[in-house]
Amino acid sequence: MNVRSTTQQLAIRRVLESAGRPLCPSEILEDARREVPSLGQATVYRGIQRLLAREDIRRVKVPGLIDRYEWGAEHHHHHFLCRSCERLFELDACPGGLEKLAPKGFQAEDHDLLIKGLCPECRELES
Ligand SMILES: [Zn+2]
Ligand SMILES: [Zn+2]
Repeated sequence: MNVRSTTQQLAIRRVLESAGRPLCPSEILEDARREVPSLGQATVYRGIQRLLAREDIRRVKVPGLIDRYEWGAEHHHHHFLCRSCERLFELDACPGGLEKLAPKGFQAEDHDLLIKGLCPECRELES
């Protein structure tokens, strides 16, 4: 990699590493452009692919929305989706015990949980 693309890749990496929540490609682009104004969408996608291949980030699927990407290894947790800004936030806890909601005779193996609502900033705007 040349110096320019290394700088770009590092900016993309830093944005995801410091975000503390899953980001979509346009959020990554916006944040990384503060560091590297010439950054383009295609470079962000390449950076995402590279980080996925290294397992530095994970893909987070949200029904009806473009995939998000979050920093770090796989660990069991859930997310909060703000319906207004469509930003995704990490939840600290899992309520647990969801397996017992499976119908009689079924064996639950895993679950997804997405809480939806308004983030503090959007609540402020709507009130
Ligand atoms: Zn919001
Ligand atoms: Zn859970």
